Amino acid sequence: MKRNLVFVLLLTLFGTGASAQLKVGKLLKAGGNLISAVTLTDADIAEMSKSAVEKMDQENQVDTSDYHRRLQRLTENISVDGLKLNFKVYLTKDVNAFACGDGSVRVYSALMDTMSDSELMAIIGHEIGHVARTDTKDALKNAYLRSAAQNAAGSVSGSVAARLSESQLAELANSLAQAQYSQKQEYDADEYGFEFCLKNNVDPYAMYHALDKLADMSKTNRNNASAIVKAFATHPDSYKRAQRMKEKADALQH
Ligand SMILES: [Zn+2]
Repeated sequence: MKRNLVFVLLLTLFGTGASAQLKVGKLLKAGGNLISAVTLTDADIAEMSKSAVEKMDQENQVDTSDYHRRLQRLTENISVDGLKLNFKVYLTKDVNAFACGDGSVRVYSALMDTMSDSELMAIIGHEIGHVARTDTKDALKNAYLRSAAQNAAGSVSGSVAARLSESQLAELANSLAQAQYSQKQEYDADEYGFEFCLKNNVDPYAMYHALDKLADMSKTNRNNASAIVKAFATHPDSYKRAQRMKEKADALQH
């Protein structure tokens, strides 16, 4: 059971919470100490990001059938400056999606079951927003600095990513995906998702509907919900986020 992987990924869309704190504590113990002067170039981070996604792709069941075709149909004409996007669907019961700095976007089948096409596009836009605003990159970098992975750096030759062991890579992948985003970062990613919808001829109310749906799910499924929904439920302002997006869409109607 890939409990860790699945669990932590769920926090990317709305995630903050105690779990991330625990994780950091665990990593600190494992790593022993914080490195204050690790040099990480953008190329290092990009490579680690790519390696982390490849690890996730190996760990998850990637759909090649209906989900894949639906996502392909939705995304075949979208482009984002500076990002070479690639999409995959993970077959899982968890409601989630995430994007990475290498342009990888991963969408969970249960999210696709839950969302309409336009809502799905809004969430994809939101996730790309975290990448565009470097939230994801910063999260990965911080995770790397905190993680035991840093102990592998320095003494061996080769790139930073190449020096990661399999288990360290898994830790990094987890840490990247469970990044704690601030409320401001979430608001900004919502804004990005909204604009993303406009650019791609998606219903301007899609971001509103998607957020509203997740807020509803967090209310009705509090006990057995996917972690994304639970994480969302811990935000008191869930509906406020949705409402902001509705107001933006309303403003376009005048
Ligand atoms: Zn988010």
